[in-house]
Amino acid sequence: MSVDYRPMWSQLGLDLNAHDALLSVLGKAYQDIFLAQTDRPEGMKYFDFVMSEVHGLRIKELLDAKAEGRKVIGSYCVFVPEELILAVDGVSVGLCAGAEFAFAEAEKLLPRNTCALIKSAFGFKLGKVCPYLEACDLVVGENTCDGKKKAYETLDDLIKNLYVIDLPQMKSESGKALLKAEYQKFAAKLEEMSGKTITAERLRKGIEIVNNKRKALHRLAALRNASPAPISGLDALLVNQISFYDDPLRFTNSVNALCDELETRIKAAQGVRPQQTPRILVSGCPMAVPNWKLPWIVETSSAVIVGEESCVGERGSRNLTQDGSDTRLDLLMDNLVERYFKVDCAVFTPNPDRLQHIREMFATHNAQGVIHYNLQFCQPYQIESGGVERQLEDAGIPTLVIDTDYSQEDAGQIRTRVEAFIERIQG
Ligand code: SF4
Ligand code: SF4
Repeated sequence: MSVDYRPMWSQLGLDLNAHDALLSVLGKAYQDIFLAQTDRPEGMKYFDFVMSEVHGLRIKELLDAKAEGRKVIGSYCVFVPEELILAVDGVSVGLCAGAEFAFAEAEKLLPRNTCALIKSAFGFKLGKVCPYLEACDLVVGENTCDGKKKAYETLDDLIKNLYVIDLPQMKSESGKALLKAEYQKFAAKLEEMSGKTITAERLRKGIEIVNNKRKALHRLAALRNASPAPISGLDALLVNQISFYDDPLRFTNSVNALCDELETRIKAAQGVRPQQTPRILVSGCPMAVPNWKLPWIVETSSAVIVGEESCVGERGSRNLTQDGSDTRLDLLMDNLVERYFKVDCAVFTPNPDRLQHIREMFATHNAQGVIHYNLQFCQPYQIESGGVERQLEDAGIPTLVIDTDYSQEDAGQIRTRVEAFIERIQG
């Protein structure tokens, strides 16, 4: 018998009718895009279950954690360190939204030419449809792109518990010092609200949990080097998306179980697509749930996605935090800063590491082409994509740049371009 979560949603202040409409669209899309795939690994059943309960059981778990005195911390960017949140026994949840919801309301507060990711965050708040946002004790923003930076000033009027981290724009020593100072301030904020002191032991535990989660994601990424591909790009993206919501220990175990199964598939040369299927690397803006448009188009156009150079993908999970035998809190904080400072988001200038990582991923995943995914009005990635495209093409790597948003209006046009690109890489 299914559980009635409506009293819980109501208590969180959601608009039940709007929320019903969102879940119904989400459920149908999930059925059509994910469950309609054939020959999926058995291990995906866990992730299907998580998605079926993404606004149900997981929210109940968050509320149960709050009842035990734990704090729920929401964030919009991979620069917000989960390790610190775990060090005060908090729960970290991602708040980025991937659906066009209440955009008309959002556009009363933001210019129309704001990227869909930011508009979606506003739409979910104004439309009262996000139980994660409403369950948060603290919502953490960060000064990355100008769009987010300025939008947080307006979001501050809508959310009573917003905290903004300042971030550097250059990979310099002073930039690193800024990041460290901001992480120290954030740690103090977490300590104040949780009543717990971050000790070296507590931080080491947090680092260990997050490192293990990242190791599992690295393992999944490496298994996608195999040909034929043992898992679809859609399913691998879903796993990465769920990494922002799920309990980290349970998630890590489930990804490792999936990887065990994929290893067996690879030994048996069992793929989700035939061996000769064109292999695509997707690079660019993050894809938050339920933003599945481009991967769905690619994978229903006779190609398979073998890697995501994205914050919901390898850019977000690359590099572990060195924990070693450091027992001093300040050294552990330095290790944390070192790890996050390597994230090659396009908000940094210059940002040569990212191009290098795209090339490396193209080679290690045995890809045949790169699709650079830009959200419209995302200046950092749209501008950077020009140079990335030129330099990849110069190096003989076929590249297609797609600029899009969360609507379905351009799906046919994108499909036409993707199909032509696949024909090109097939030679
Ligand atoms: S793309 Fe940049 S701003 Fe967006 S989540 Fe990644 S690091 Fe943060
Ligand atoms: S997609 Fe681009 S513009 Fe939008 S929030 Fe991310 S970095 Fe900023």
